[in-house]
Amino acid sequence: MKILGEVPAKLQVFTRFLVQSWTRQYQDARIILEQNGDLRYLNIPANLQRLFVRGVMVTSGVMILTIFFLAGTSINLFTSRARLAHSHEEVYRALLNSSLDGREVQDVQLSEDQMVSLAQTIRDRDMSIRRFVDTSMVAVTQENDTMKSQLDSTGLTEKIVKIIQQNSAHGGLTPDNTLSDNPLLRGKVADELSTNRALREVLYALPTNMPIVNYSVSSDFGIRKHPVTGIPHFHTGVDLLTATNDDKVHPVKPGIIVMAEFHSTYGNTVVVRHTNGVESLYAHLSGISVKVGDKVTMDDVIGKIGNTGVSTGKHLHLEILVGGYPVNPQKVIRTAQYVQQIQQNAQ
Ligand SMILES: [Zn+2]
Repeated sequence: MKILGEVPAKLQVFTRFLVQSWTRQYQDARIILEQNGDLRYLNIPANLQRLFVRGVMVTSGVMILTIFFLAGTSINLFTSRARLAHSHEEVYRALLNSSLDGREVQDVQLSEDQMVSLAQTIRDRDMSIRRFVDTSMVAVTQENDTMKSQLDSTGLTEKIVKIIQQNSAHGGLTPDNTLSDNPLLRGKVADELSTNRALREVLYALPTNMPIVNYSVSSDFGIRKHPVTGIPHFHTGVDLLTATNDDKVHPVKPGIIVMAEFHSTYGNTVVVRHTNGVESLYAHLSGISVKVGDKVTMDDVIGKIGNTGVSTGKHLHLEILVGGYPVNPQKVIRTAQYVQQIQQNAQ
């Protein structure tokens, strides 16, 4: 407060001095000069005196303002240059650190040459990333085409495919934003990658093993005449015979036993629940060797081939269900095996 009080007081005195100097009344003045014994008179009129004083005041005012302006500009210039140099240094250090795999660079003396070579390095790296993404995309697009045609060959309807996707372990219905949110993977690249992920999700959910090691098919999936009643109906599974004396029945994919009991039509029946809403059913078994809740792998035996329930002879009736809908077991398993084969070859 003391300083704030003092400044206006001094400013007042200065202003008063300026006003007085500007409005001062001048008298004509006479200066007497002596030169070699002669006296000479120099008249200085009041007008000239006023003009001189006012001229000096205006000139010094303009000069002071100019000095302030120049000083302000150069300080501003200096600070922004320093700020720019600092940010360049930060960028340089960050980029240098990223290419040094964790080894920290503390002190960076940045020259313009370094800046240029750094820019070139970044551009080269950017180009090689783009080339890599382009070539990878060709491979992903090809793989997507293969998987699409494989998926078509399973005969799975769009509805069935949706059920598998919706029963996905990572959410299903919620769209996967991790790919489209990645700024490096815009547009077509993100689309191809998410298509790839969705196709894999479906294909990997399918069973890969036939339940009998050596088998032959006695009745296909689809419409047929019922072996007992003779009435045409939809055969919801495939009937398999063992080609050897091996009667062991294995799950078509790892899973959990959700049913293991006698059924009036299916006889001794086992149902295994897999991932993504996929289940497999094994009917007419002679005996059941698992109970509900058991976790099974493809090496386990869930029962033996039999002739229980409504059956005309010893065989295994195999069903594969997606969301409760039966699908063609042979087509699905053949496709899953093929996809697995491609995957193994690729690794
Ligand atoms: Zn059958």
